[in-house]
Amino acid sequence: MAAALGALFALTLCAATIPATSSEKEAGAATEEKTAVKEEKAAAKKASEKALTPEERAAETEKKQGREASAELEKQYKLVKDEAVNARVERIGKELAKLANETEVHAHYGSPKIAKFDYVFKVLDDKDVNALSMPGGFVYINKGLLDYVQSDDELAAVIAHEIAHISHHHMQSLLKEQSKLNNQIAVALLAAIVAKGSAGDVGNLMMGAQMVQIARLNGYSRQAEKDADMTAIAYLAMSKSNPVGILTFMERLARDEVARPAIEWGIYQTHPYPAERSRDILDELRKRNVPIDRRAVTTAAMAELKKSENKPDVFEAWVGGAKMFEAAAVDGQSSEDRAKAIVEKLNMLLNSGVSLRDIRRTTDPPAISARGELLLQVTEADASLSAPMTAADILREAYNALYRTLVEQDLQQVY
Ligand SMILES: [Zn+2]
Repeated sequence: MAAALGALFALTLCAATIPATSSEKEAGAATEEKTAVKEEKAAAKKASEKALTPEERAAETEKKQGREASAELEKQYKLVKDEAVNARVERIGKELAKLANETEVHAHYGSPKIAKFDYVFKVLDDKDVNALSMPGGFVYINKGLLDYVQSDDELAAVIAHEIAHISHHHMQSLLKEQSKLNNQIAVALLAAIVAKGSAGDVGNLMMGAQMVQIARLNGYSRQAEKDADMTAIAYLAMSKSNPVGILTFMERLARDEVARPAIEWGIYQTHPYPAERSRDILDELRKRNVPIDRRAVTTAAMAELKKSENKPDVFEAWVGGAKMFEAAAVDGQSSEDRAKAIVEKLNMLLNSGVSLRDIRRTTDPPAISARGELLLQVTEADASLSAPMTAADILREAYNALYRTLVEQDLQQVY
């Protein structure tokens, strides 16, 4: 029962969170015995919660649901125990949780009412690119997601999104909106489980019920996802993290969902429209005047200055992890100054989204320019420094390193 319901809900939300136990309760309520127990419990609960405000009582319910669902989840998955891994997730999570507990952010869905939850962050030993949240402050990040993000900023984006589902009480809204439907589904599922899937009719009934449920839930989840994205941006903008991480993460998701079907997508597979979400995220970042520097939050190739390993006082410009150019001292300019100037120009070009068509190579003089400006010129001194390479060889090596970087970048569609 729990597994079947869990799977059903997991299909539709990253917050795969409708606690199986509460759904079980609804289904179980069909029997008188359970109803009696339930009433007794409710009465006891009422007495003990007299002192609480309605908000506090609601928060207590969320915490209880979250605790039960987490316990269920942790029966099914192993947790990653690696201290460094957990410390990374916790450090980022705690900062964002504090912001969520202190700052009310407009809710496009759910409720912005602050309930001070004690957030808990755990890592599931699972290769799916996935994260999920449970009401009341429980956030789970899959190992597969940690391997997929390219920076702490991207990880912060995912955590902020999950926190937003919790802080804006999305699950409570979902449960309220579909409570009628839930009862029908619960009965249908219960019937199916009793029949252990052997009866064709029950199978069909279940299928129909599931489709209705999924259709309904997708509508809700789309609003919930949008609110989680927008709220995450608000939290990130107040945090130490760069909010652009949510954009690069979503863009890569949109791209890889199409390009790399072999990856196990877990719940993100059914997250609504990553391409559409990327556009909404970009709009929101622009509205907030966040500088859109994707390179700052990804492992995109950069140019670097390196000291030659075998030639004293000689410096090299590298790009995309490959040596591009070994600079000789020319006209009173040191090797270091020349190589450094090339690296700085290149990084500025890369940051501004330079592409192959902006690059020109000339043979006389042997030089590379970008957007009409000289990037590097191969001199006689360079040729004698790198002998037996000729000026033409040096130019070719430099151009090829740049070419490979830009082709790779275009393939990755970072821009
Ligand atoms: Zn979500």
